[in-house]
Amino acid sequence: MTKGEIQARIAELRRLIEKANHDYYDLHQPTVGDRDYDLWEAELLRLEDANPEFRNAASPVRNVAGGVSEGFAKVTHHPPMQSLDKTHAKGELAEFDAFVRRTVSGFTYVVEPKVDGVSLSLRYSGGRLVQAATRGNGTVGDDITANVRTIRTIPQALPPDAPRELEVRGEAYMTREGFVELNRRQAEAGLEEFANPRNACAGSLKQLDPKVTAQRPLDVVIYNAGGVGCDAFASHSEMIAAFRAWGFPVAPWSQSCRTMDEVFAAIDALQAKRHTFRFEIDGAVVKIGERRFYAALGATAHGPRWARAYKYEPERAETVVEAITVQVGRTGILTPVAELRPTALAGSTITRATLHNADQVARQDIRIGDHVWLVKAGDVIPAVDSVIVEKRTGAERVFAMPAACPVCGGTVVREPGEVAVRCVNPACPAQLARRVEHFASRNALDVKALGETVVEALVARRMIADPLDLFTLRVVDLYALEISGHRFGKNAETAKAALEAAKALPLHRWLYAIGIPNVGVTVAKDIAAAHAKFSDLADSPVLKDVLANDARKGKERQILKIKVEAARAVLAFFASDYGRAFAVRMAELGLDPVSERPAAVRTDGPLAGAGCVLTGTLSRPRGDYAKLIEAAGGVVQSAVTSKTRYLIAGANVGATKTAKARALGTEVIDEARLVELLNAGGRTEGTT
Ligand code: AMP
Ligand code: ZN
Repeated sequence: MTKGEIQARIAELRRLIEKANHDYYDLHQPTVGDRDYDLWEAELLRLEDANPEFRNAASPVRNVAGGVSEGFAKVTHHPPMQSLDKTHAKGELAEFDAFVRRTVSGFTYVVEPKVDGVSLSLRYSGGRLVQAATRGNGTVGDDITANVRTIRTIPQALPPDAPRELEVRGEAYMTREGFVELNRRQAEAGLEEFANPRNACAGSLKQLDPKVTAQRPLDVVIYNAGGVGCDAFASHSEMIAAFRAWGFPVAPWSQSCRTMDEVFAAIDALQAKRHTFRFEIDGAVVKIGERRFYAALGATAHGPRWARAYKYEPERAETVVEAITVQVGRTGILTPVAELRPTALAGSTITRATLHNADQVARQDIRIGDHVWLVKAGDVIPAVDSVIVEKRTGAERVFAMPAACPVCGGTVVREPGEVAVRCVNPACPAQLARRVEHFASRNALDVKALGETVVEALVARRMIADPLDLFTLRVVDLYALEISGHRFGKNAETAKAALEAAKALPLHRWLYAIGIPNVGVTVAKDIAAAHAKFSDLADSPVLKDVLANDARKGKERQILKIKVEAARAVLAFFASDYGRAFAVRMAELGLDPVSERPAAVRTDGPLAGAGCVLTGTLSRPRGDYAKLIEAAGGVVQSAVTSKTRYLIAGANVGATKTAKARALGTEVIDEARLVELLNAGGRTEGTT
């Protein structure tokens, strides 16, 4: 290469790496496989080292990627949180060993898993967790303390024998099972799925609302000293043992080694064990065991010279995308699926892989006929990692999302804020079958006799056109139903009995059973808790209020637990033709499921039906008052409307606000009067 070509290649590699960093760290949507990324990085380092005139302090390989985000306070790391130098070959590890031997003697190695997650610093002061931060750019990271406090395995306080001032460092990760479950929920809500557990973990830690993080299955492994409290340890293993004794999760496996042969054997042993961990690993880390050598070995701008990462080849298999088909899900979401030439990968034969959505297909530029690398995301879900572009012949075809539903031919739309395209025909047979299956599923109405094949048969024979038709099916017809040559027979009675029992299930089970987007098990429970019965949902003032509150963004803290998207989705459902018909049908069937906590909405309470708005500084948290008001039959609103009976004005409320309320016919009362009213029902509410 001429100097000019080298300079151009360096610029190209920097651009590629910076784009990949942005997609990965900021958008949490990787666009290149790890291996390609590592190869670019290695090539760029090599070119920059050989051509120092083109070196540049801002080059992505001279800095730790990761960036800092808006919305979080900044934390400065002392010393900086570094990356690790990486090798893919054992020969390179031998060079590392040679370097160490030239510098120090009388040392041992420790081999431990390289956890594929997100680096984290935890700072304790006075023995209590006071700060948690991301690596960020290495020098400055994001303060994510509130989010990290939701990780239950991280000690909030240290035992008395631990240093009062301490910083430890480690890796946060999402468990494999948790990742699979989270993606299932994301897909069901029409939201973007995460590419792998590491991205899911990063996304979860960067939530502005810790409540969201709390619902994510996160954990950590602590493996490093931070800037304070760890100087006394002579060896790495001693330090890790102390971390464990102080209550920190540490790596479930590690190996001390004297020779390079032992190191290589440990690396192989770890690789064989990698699938047994709850976290994904992408390699092994080889560290010097004796901490007294660290200073002499020093560090580069990239990482310490006393440790080296050995990256495993990702388990992947080459295959061909023979076709891209489109599946229609329960909520009408169209999902492109790669139909693959069958190939063995990590213990199973893979024939299909979800491509998630059209954006994802376009981002990865996956074409029909492409040779691709297949991996298992989270070690379980087959996923197309990257396209082998060199193998393109020109005969590959670009995939386009169909403009109509592939099953019913109905209109498809893309909702703002969603990546998914949906078939909006409520009578779509594909959706109907999935909807009925969901309706009968365990967390919904739990009708075990109605599995996938039975439901498919009922839909195909047009015996049902809606989940509620299950209640009017005649036992004789069910009895005679033939499924792959067999009569449904006696199972008909079981199914009927289960349906009968379902009529008595509480509101949240029914609400979940309907299968409204964004309304999962937890959300259904939260919504049901704020309502007495099914027929209260369609025109719910509580749900409308959640939306009104959102429109006035942030002016007042949201009092109810109900999420805006969920409230909007439920109201939209009951406003739709299908939802209205569903409600009418429920009434015709004499069904009006009641909430498990009907006491939460009392029609006879002292505040029955009274709209209440809380404002100003109160002596107890607003959430507490909100619960008490609801328990007394009142409805908590976020803004005064003509339906507001009481404005409860705490300290520091402006005169304009109260005057406005009075003009609307609202009574303005103080906190003491509210307490009187709450107690007027003859009982003192102590429950919160
Ligand atoms: P990379 O993210 O590929 O640059 O690799 C370096 C990162 O590996 C470090 O910044 C750590 O976050 C992470 N890592 C995972 N496990 C370990 C471990 N056992 N020891 C040191 N670093 C680790
Ligand atoms: Zn359709």
